[in-house]
Amino acid sequence: MPTDESRSAESPARAAGGIVRRLSRLGWLRAILLHPVVARPGFWFATACAWVWGGVLGRFRMRRAGTLVVASGLPKWAYGRGGTTIGAVYLTTNNTSPRVLEHEAVHCAQWKKYGLALIPLYLDAGRDARLNRFEIEAGLAKGGYGR
Ligand SMILES: [Zn+2]
Repeated sequence: MPTDESRSAESPARAAGGIVRRLSRLGWLRAILLHPVVARPGFWFATACAWVWGGVLGRFRMRRAGTLVVASGLPKWAYGRGGTTIGAVYLTTNNTSPRVLEHEAVHCAQWKKYGLALIPLYLDAGRDARLNRFEIEAGLAKGGYGR
C-alpha cells in the first residue's frame, strides 16, 4: 500500500517537474527557450490570451498600472489565489492594493524574461508559495503570503 508521499511522488506534476529539471540542465536548450526572440512572443501570446479572458469576464474594466494591465471585477473562479498575472495582465476581483500590484509587476517581468517557459518553471518551483522562487522574488509579504 503506497503512502500519500509515494503517491504524490508519482503524480503527473512531479513527473513533469523531473522533466523540467532535466531539460533545464541542457544549457543550449535553456539558451534557446529564454532567448528574447523566443521568450518575448510567448509573453505577447500569454498577454493576448489573458487580455481576452480578463476583458470578456470583467466586461473590459481594465486599466494600466505601470507595466501591468489590471483586469478587475472578475469572478473568483477566473483566476488563482487572490489574483493571477498572465503575461502583462493581472486578473483579479478586487485585490488591487499598491503592494499587491508591485508584487504582480515582478511576475509580469518574469513572464517577459521567461515567456511561456515560465509555466513549467513556475509549476516546478512548487505549489507552496513560501518556497516558490518566483513568489519569493516577487515578494512574499507584498503578495499576501505572510512571512
Ligand atoms: Zn505572486
